[in-house]
Amino acid sequence: MIRQVSALFFLLPLTAPASAQTAAIDLLDLTHPGLEAVAAAQAAGDEKMAAEALLTYYRQRHNVVCPDMDPVQTSPTPEERRWADEGMEHRFFVHSGYQPSYHYGDDIDWQYWPVKDNELRWQLHRMKWWVPMGKTYRATGDERYAAEWCAQYLDWIHKNPLADYREEEACDWLHADNVYFAWRPLETSDRLEFQIHQFLCFLPADAFDAEFLLAFLDNYHRHAEHVMGHFSASGNHLLFEAQRLIFAGVFFPEFRDAASWRARGVEILNREMGKQVYDDGMQYELDPHYHLESINIFFKALRMMDANGYRNEFPAEYLATVERMIEVHIACSFPDCTTPLFSDNRRHDTEMLRTIYRQWAEVFPGNEAIRRLATEGHEGAAPDYFSHAFRTSGFYVLRNGWDKNATVAIVKAGPPAFWHNQPDNGTFELWSRGRNFLPDSGCYVYGGDKEVQQLRNWFRQTCVHNTLTLDNRNLEKSESRLIQWRTEPGLTTLDLENPSYEGLTHRRTVWFVDERFFVILDQAEGEAAGQVALHYHLVECEPVEEASKCTVTTRFGDGNDLAIRVFGAQPTTMERREGWVSRTYRQRNPRPSYAFTAKKEAGHTVRFITLLLPGIDGAAVPRLDATLHDGYIRVKIDKKRYKLEY
Ligand code: MG
Repeated sequence: MIRQVSALFFLLPLTAPASAQTAAIDLLDLTHPGLEAVAAAQAAGDEKMAAEALLTYYRQRHNVVCPDMDPVQTSPTPEERRWADEGMEHRFFVHSGYQPSYHYGDDIDWQYWPVKDNELRWQLHRMKWWVPMGKTYRATGDERYAAEWCAQYLDWIHKNPLADYREEEACDWLHADNVYFAWRPLETSDRLEFQIHQFLCFLPADAFDAEFLLAFLDNYHRHAEHVMGHFSASGNHLLFEAQRLIFAGVFFPEFRDAASWRARGVEILNREMGKQVYDDGMQYELDPHYHLESINIFFKALRMMDANGYRNEFPAEYLATVERMIEVHIACSFPDCTTPLFSDNRRHDTEMLRTIYRQWAEVFPGNEAIRRLATEGHEGAAPDYFSHAFRTSGFYVLRNGWDKNATVAIVKAGPPAFWHNQPDNGTFELWSRGRNFLPDSGCYVYGGDKEVQQLRNWFRQTCVHNTLTLDNRNLEKSESRLIQWRTEPGLTTLDLENPSYEGLTHRRTVWFVDERFFVILDQAEGEAAGQVALHYHLVECEPVEEASKCTVTTRFGDGNDLAIRVFGAQPTTMERREGWVSRTYRQRNPRPSYAFTAKKEAGHTVRFITLLLPGIDGAAVPRLDATLHDGYIRVKIDKKRYKLEY
């Protein structure tokens, strides 16, 4: 139920300053086709009539489209409807993980910061409840949503003026002025994109009158110019800003500056594609979430330009790179469409991913792998390979199929990366027959005050990954060197080494044997001394542990279990440790985690062999044995013997 629009409504300023209104028309190119009546009224000095003519123009304009928003067909999901209704009461959905949503005051306090998580303060200024309000307005015809949106929009302008903006003075976020939150370029660009959706939804509303239109255009133009003057230096932020500037220039071609916004955005995306996408197709932040976001940035820019007649602005190589990035995303996905929770990745909604695949399929109709995923397997075909190495970015996929019965391990061991990337070199996830047995710990939360940062730091630790540590410390270096990648029938071999710590090199050799099970040899060599530990983190379950045999086995009771057994070449102990897995922001589940520890003397090498046997019945584990020899290891699974050379 929507509360009756109340007195608090009148606390909000309902008009923009007169100067903004007159200035808005001056920002437009009045020779633009369709603006003749606006130009005539303006020339006659009748600003009111010019504004009315402009509103009529936009309400009748049909030659500009936004492919992501059809206001006639749109309707809110139940969740969006809730955000819209809560937004009417100033309980704003700002970020997942902070529900029920906080109340921002009858007289909205745009500086309210209930938990010192930076995202909560920044993302307030993305107003994620405004598009849902627009969709709800369209679905219900209830003018109160439009009136409230207009009021909140003007209130935001009034309380968040764009003051002198010098980013170098905003480095301490806990004490930064409000302008650095409200006008951070990433947030500003977010508004450039989604205020197009709001504009389309609310344009027919009573509250969206000529006076409001001028305030909107004035504010919107200020946004685009602010982004033009304050691009982020690099990374996905810069890509987002460029893409959204293109949106602004395409959707509002009437602005005198629109062509320069488009040109700058196109120039940046073309340039950054060469910098930020490795030759193997992975985005250089090495985070599956931002890889997907980057694909969508490049893709959305292309689609927006295409839909509005700005073809040929991107070279053919642009399109080919986007397709290559999509192929990396597909290769690094499990059969349920999820991707490893490496770095700051989070679980993506399968339906949302299907929608994305359908959009990709429209632009790449000849790509069979995309079509297969877009049609849930009814059309198209899986890629013509299984295991695959992305050597530059350091993602290695060991796979025996593409359908739900497949077994897939994805190893991450790449070059140095940036803020989102965790010190997790050598880690991997293992998925088999519908179950992700060794999910990454995830990230749980981004940055903030000390308390929030401590939570983030826990999930970033090297020891909460499926890799090797010295004295439980975080890795000092991630610069993996590929020694060998070989695929042959029945055996895939991955051999890597990383200078993990001063005085300790971690060499990890992974064999995917008989397309069924994994053998891992970990060697910690060098002058360093201390406790070397090998870490494995299971999915949420109640496994059976045998510490004396360094063994742990899941017992799901459905015939799809995993046995882990570690053989130390030196005395090795197994202990259970604190374990968590977080698939969405601010949500985490406890899970069984294990460390297998051995003492390392200076100059000596610590070696562990791990057998990972998925797809078995945990109540009837085969007899497992592994022995280390000079240059090879001997593995026994029941009576079957294997010799693996290293
Ligand atoms: Mg991680």
